Amino acid sequence: MSTVTIAGPGIVVTAFADGQVLERAGVAWEGERVVGVGPMSKLVRAFPGAARLDVRDGLILPGLINLHHHFYSALARGLDPGRPLATFGEVLEGLWWRFDRALGPETVRLSAALSAAECIASGCTTVFDHHSSPSCLHGSLDLVAAAVREAGIAAVLCYEASDRNGHREALTGLKETLDFASRHCDDPHLRGMVGLHASFTVADSTLRSAARRRPAGTGVHLHVAEGRLDVDASRQSYGAHPVERLVTAGLLDQNALLAHGVHLDRRALEAVAAAGAVIVHNPESNANNGVGRLDVAGAVRLGCAVGLGTDGMSSSILRSLRAAFLGARAGARDPSAGFEAVPSLLATNAAFAARVFGEPLLGTLEVGAPADLTVLGGKPPTPVTAGNLFSHLVYGAAEGPVCHTVARGRVLLRDFRHVTLDPTSLAHLARQATPTLWQRFQSL
Ligand SMILES: [Zn+2]
Repeated sequence: MSTVTIAGPGIVVTAFADGQVLERAGVAWEGERVVGVGPMSKLVRAFPGAARLDVRDGLILPGLINLHHHFYSALARGLDPGRPLATFGEVLEGLWWRFDRALGPETVRLSAALSAAECIASGCTTVFDHHSSPSCLHGSLDLVAAAVREAGIAAVLCYEASDRNGHREALTGLKETLDFASRHCDDPHLRGMVGLHASFTVADSTLRSAARRRPAGTGVHLHVAEGRLDVDASRQSYGAHPVERLVTAGLLDQNALLAHGVHLDRRALEAVAAAGAVIVHNPESNANNGVGRLDVAGAVRLGCAVGLGTDGMSSSILRSLRAAFLGARAGARDPSAGFEAVPSLLATNAAFAARVFGEPLLGTLEVGAPADLTVLGGKPPTPVTAGNLFSHLVYGAAEGPVCHTVARGRVLLRDFRHVTLDPTSLAHLARQATPTLWQRFQSL
């Protein structure tokens, strides 16, 4: 009996950069690998007896990748901070740095599971998460990892080490993130990065220690110039721009993931471009925090690689793509803006994830690639071509429901229903855990 599964017939997009768009086509996989892509009739002949996943003429995309998320924020929805949050600094101190300290082992686990369920429902198969839970720091990444493994997605985890609660905690955070990265150097589904919070909360000695102790080829994942605060406080406290500090520490390289970059000037962007580091654009979060907006086209023109994340605002990378597109137009006051740089964001995500996992075909639907698929239900009402794919993504697919999600050959969402997780029971558990979590938050 064949162990091959074929998803189709539908419209297959083989990659977000220079990919083909194939009509009446399908994708076949065996185990965790794609074994065939092309006309459905050919696949059916090539793999007789294969199981079928009906996509109802829908759009079959490479599994979506999110380069910056915060699973731990899942239970903050609806929380009253109980004090005014008039500046970005107050948002951090009054909301997020109290909220993460209130988290315990059970709420860390629940948050990761809830977020992973949302990722699956949004068609996301690989997620880069940035975790913080100072009151249950040691072992927290293993809790997140267990939830991710149960969900079935691939993930790159890190703990955001920070001196904001003292240097001892920064070193504990660094140990957590380095140990996890070291233990997962070869894991096909879970990797680690060197997590740091942001330049203005990380001491020089912490940066040096991160650079000295990181496993070879493991990059840093941190917030950079999200608000003016990061740039100004870094200069004031450490006498240097956040990007200069990374350069001095030897941490700015092609493996570095710099979330936001909203307030990077030309010189800093040129340094990022020269190093080959990736800036992660998080348009919904930036709008929510009122910190400004990354000029994606300007950064790309200077040679920067710019990818896309959600920063805990949601788990939908297609909605984030749409927000990036609309933000580019709103910011430029130009109805023709957005097409010069925004379409490359998903391709950058794929290239970066491919490098981290050592899987050159990750993020594509080609023979030999990891079998990661996102299937959007329903036949698009107008023709889809390689030339107009981006329009379909931002004007249609971003609002359309995902009907199947397949990660590494495992069907995680089938006909809109979760296979590996039970969001109803997770929501029930979350409702029970949240009052105590929120009381702890209010007491901090
Ligand atoms: Zn973030």
